[in-house]
Amino acid sequence: MYQQILKELEPHAAHLVAVSKTKPVEAVMILYEQGQRDFGENRVQELLPKYEALPKDIRWHLIGHLQSNKVKYIARFVHLIHSVDSLDLLREIDKQALKHGRVIDCLLQFHIAEEETKFGLLWEELSEWPTEVFEAFPHARITGVMGMATFTDDHKQVKAEFRRLREIFDKVKARFFSHEPAFCELSMGMSDDYRIALEEGSTMVRIGTLLFGAREG
Ligand SMILES: *Cc1c(COP(=O)(O)O)cnc(C)c1O
Repeated sequence: MYQQILKELEPHAAHLVAVSKTKPVEAVMILYEQGQRDFGENRVQELLPKYEALPKDIRWHLIGHLQSNKVKYIARFVHLIHSVDSLDLLREIDKQALKHGRVIDCLLQFHIAEEETKFGLLWEELSEWPTEVFEAFPHARITGVMGMATFTDDHKQVKAEFRRLREIFDKVKARFFSHEPAFCELSMGMSDDYRIALEEGSTMVRIGTLLFGAREG
């Protein structure tokens, strides 16, 4: 399955983040040995022991909701935070990155789904922020956007939501990052909908179940 997914991503030049949440380090190692280096976790409490136990050339992605008071635990090593949904969080990431002499790459998470439970910003909010707002956080570099579609079998709806995220990407780039080549990532697509996401321009898919099997609970 791993090799097949890589093959599907190739024509889109998209990256794979293997989502290892709830799975043991042994499962991570099996993919690691096949060459996979980007892994995603959604909880800091689970990411920390995995970071400690696993090879240090793994690039860890934090894909779940992140509380500001937890940033300090991951700031020294996290590769990309996909879930920035407030300026307070961005401020804290900037502060902790500075402490560790790093620049931490971040994605702005947008709410595109129907469900109310999913976190994320709205374009309507961002469109009112001053265009230079992100310059205040030089140690937190915004490299793109992330979003999750509604959990539904309705192919058309999922496609429309990903298309909206793509449009948001374009608008955020035009308003805030038009001179920033680093702003280039569109993180969208999971096990059930990554093919639709690729059609809509995803540069990074986050896949768990298809690679590791179903999660319990
Ligand atoms: C769990 C999770 C995924 C992966 O979901 P699968 O359906 O198992 O592929 C992707 N993105 C986020 C934010 C997640 O929490």
